[in-house]
Amino acid sequence: MGNDPMNNQISDVHIGQLASVGQIAAGIAHEVRNPLTSVKGFLQLLKEKSPDTYIDVAEAELNNALLTLENLLQVSKPDMEDELLSTFNLCAEIESILYLFQDQQYRVKLETNFENVDSAIVSGKRNQLKKTFFNLFKNAFEAIPDKGTIHVNQFIRDGYVYILVKDTGVGIPKDKCALLGTPFFTTKENGTGMGLTQVFTTIYQHGGRIEVDSEENVGTTFRIILPIDISHIQHGVVKLNIKNVESGNLKEYLLENQDVFEQHLLSEAVNVRDKINEIHTIGNIDLLGNAQKLVLFIVENRRHELMMFAQKEGEAWAKHSLTIAFKLEWLQAIRRVLWNFLYNFDRIRGTETNREEFFTLEKNINDLIDQFLNSFFISYTNYKEEVLQSQQEIIEDLSVPIIPIIDSMCILPLIGKVDNNRMLGMKEKVFNQISQHKIMTLIMDFSGVAIIEEEAILYLLKILEGISMMGCKTVITGIRPECVNTMIDLNLTITDKAETYGTLNQALEKYLMRRDV
Ligand code: ADP
Ligand code: MG
Repeated sequence: MGNDPMNNQISDVHIGQLASVGQIAAGIAHEVRNPLTSVKGFLQLLKEKSPDTYIDVAEAELNNALLTLENLLQVSKPDMEDELLSTFNLCAEIESILYLFQDQQYRVKLETNFENVDSAIVSGKRNQLKKTFFNLFKNAFEAIPDKGTIHVNQFIRDGYVYILVKDTGVGIPKDKCALLGTPFFTTKENGTGMGLTQVFTTIYQHGGRIEVDSEENVGTTFRIILPIDISHIQHGVVKLNIKNVESGNLKEYLLENQDVFEQHLLSEAVNVRDKINEIHTIGNIDLLGNAQKLVLFIVENRRHELMMFAQKEGEAWAKHSLTIAFKLEWLQAIRRVLWNFLYNFDRIRGTETNREEFFTLEKNINDLIDQFLNSFFISYTNYKEEVLQSQQEIIEDLSVPIIPIIDSMCILPLIGKVDNNRMLGMKEKVFNQISQHKIMTLIMDFSGVAIIEEEAILYLLKILEGISMMGCKTVITGIRPECVNTMIDLNLTITDKAETYGTLNQALEKYLMRRDV
């Protein structure tokens, strides 16, 4: 092995400083360029009047200076600063940029490996980011003097998109490493030293990170780490690239920009977007389509349909046991994106909403969304409660199992804790069964009952009374000492209402034998 590979993780502070240096330099360049351009004009006039070789030299030097300024401005042009955010597929952009280097492929092998070809959706300044990757690829190709390979890998981890650009080029000497990204730092004869400055500025603006590994004569890897969700670095509303509609109608505007809305929504709902397919498979719920429907109901103030829709959705989410947190995140994302769209609608129409209008709109829209949420949750919980209720009924039914053993004789084995509620259920079932099946002897086995509540004992006595009124005889077996204690403490007895046996077996032996005789 040769030297240790340099592992240079450029710290955030350093990136920040470099980015500011780049921006300051660009700002100065902007100021200086105009007077220099005038000087250039005057030099030309002067040359026409009295040609002089010194003027030629001055002009050539001035042109050099202007070119340098031009390069500097490329890094952070004021109009680039103003670039609107958009949401796009990073992999698709990277592929289109790599395409520009096709003429190099006779000498440099290009290998790409994108894990999320379709889903590497990020929000950001698209042109700036395209330029960033162009600069990185250009450096990688330039670093390979003869033949070599460039790998471009993409993957997503913990909310970040990683793009790795790895070349088998000349590498970067250790002592030069700290200079990467500094404006005008170049080791190339015709280099500008502005490429990486643009890279650092842009990635920093997007809240991302850059890591560099390099080894001389082996190669260099640039690791670009971009957050998928940049909402935390955005303040307030975001200017979106949207289409205007002539009619100035809100609904038409939303329909016209439906794709932008969806992309934006996906970039906001970080956790839900990976679940869209799953939710579609499980519940046949089209989240994106439904979001569109919801938004239209809201802006058209179709309250009734909205409520019906909320009910239906609530039921569907309950029915398929879909995670409720996703619904909340989805709705919150819809609310944010809708407001952002309303802001942009106002902006591109160029009309200014007055304060009164704005607050009325705010009230109407947020009220409707709240009502949707209410309706949704009510219908969700109702559905769940109904399911619980019916399960409860099944359990209650099962907890009073009346088993016929021979004609007119049944066993009711009780287990677990006996409380008032259970007695209530038992009463109904016992009376019904006695009358239906003409039961004459009912054996209640208490051997599985550890606890019997005081109130339940009182109720049990009433049931025994009822059973005897119906002409049926009760036999109680297996009462445990704990239960007997409770009854004695309460001064209650059951022996006058039922025959008792120590165990179910004893009772059965007795009754079945008696019958056989
Ligand atoms: P330029 O390409 O015009 O020199 P950059 O800012 O793009 O300016 O790069 C600055 C310097 O960083 C380069 O001159 C080179 O020395 C070094 N560098 C950048 N990328 C690589 C790379 N992939 N391999 C080796 N050196 C690199
Ligand atoms: Mg470069």
